Amino acid sequence: MLKYMFETSGAKGTNLVSRYHLNEGCLINWMKEIKAKYRQENPYHNWAHALEVTQMARYAVSSAGGSDYLNNQDIFALLCSCIAHDVAHHGYNTQFLKRADTDLALMYNDTSPMENMHACVFFQTMQQSGCQFFAPEEQRKWKNFRRKVIATILATDIAKHFEFLKRLNLRVGKLEFNPFVEDRNTLADKNNVSKEDRMLLLEAFMHTVDLTHNFKPFNVHKIGLAALENEWFNQGDEELRLGLPITANYDRRSDSAAGCQTFFLGSMVKPLLVAFHCFTRQDFAEDILLNLDTNIQCWEKAIDQHGKGKKVAELVKILPANWGEENKEELIQGGWRQELPWVKAWRDAAVKKAQEHGEEQASAKKEKEKAQA
Ligand SMILES: [Zn+2]
Repeated sequence: MLKYMFETSGAKGTNLVSRYHLNEGCLINWMKEIKAKYRQENPYHNWAHALEVTQMARYAVSSAGGSDYLNNQDIFALLCSCIAHDVAHHGYNTQFLKRADTDLALMYNDTSPMENMHACVFFQTMQQSGCQFFAPEEQRKWKNFRRKVIATILATDIAKHFEFLKRLNLRVGKLEFNPFVEDRNTLADKNNVSKEDRMLLLEAFMHTVDLTHNFKPFNVHKIGLAALENEWFNQGDEELRLGLPITANYDRRSDSAAGCQTFFLGSMVKPLLVAFHCFTRQDFAEDILLNLDTNIQCWEKAIDQHGKGKKVAELVKILPANWGEENKEELIQGGWRQELPWVKAWRDAAVKKAQEHGEEQASAKKEKEKAQA
């Protein structure tokens, strides 16, 4: 499946393996090694999560319009980053790694220790014999690829979420006057997008797809959240054992991940999806925003009916299977709409520009015909 993904996911379906003269056997070996390094005992940060994130990235790029903004190398770096973005994850967050004086925090000076480790394992694995999928003659491309992968994996640090969101919103707010791609009809200047913009886009794609389960239908999302809650509680147990303060929401004796979803989904994930919306097709963006709003409603309803302390793992067993669909239907009936602040003005400007371009071409054609006559 992953091999097929690389063969079909470049811009306009380009085969990335032949485009970059990759050694296919080594690429497959690298993926197998990465898979083996994921800790399957982690309830959430395991290979299944890596696959879910990779699949969403592929969809966002190939089916939902993302490849209009990314070149082939960006797409290749993004897909590889997704596969390895949580490799060897310890099942603890950054705060814990720092508080517990772990080797990782020491090695990376308390700065995104887990994410730095994932990027490091990505490239260490590539150096293993039989895993060097980049052709030696592609050295220049390799350096760029490496730069992109490192930035993309580091962008998954949730502790940097608000800082990143601010940076993304600042740039998105200027799209009307300074779009990433000037001419979306031909996309001829896609490769001329500034390096800074290109990197920001890659980070936005990675960070957003890393949060995939939150904007999937409720029946899928609730399974993801139950797994995450389980991992949080395991960390809480360890904090208790070590005599450390227990992180908020991580205490299995009193907490439930359902209780913080209104804030997490509504105030963290939603603003990111609203900004990210500029880089995907409208119907896809609306679908995932509707799922997100449905999920917020479902958790609020679950707390109303079952109380704040009920664990997500227990709620998953008792909530009716049709809940998500029912709530989504209610939202649609109620005239659900998402205000998307920048996009309209930006799209209008792009359409106007395309029309002007069309008119210019038409008048140039007329002039030519006149001259020939
Ligand atoms: Zn992840």
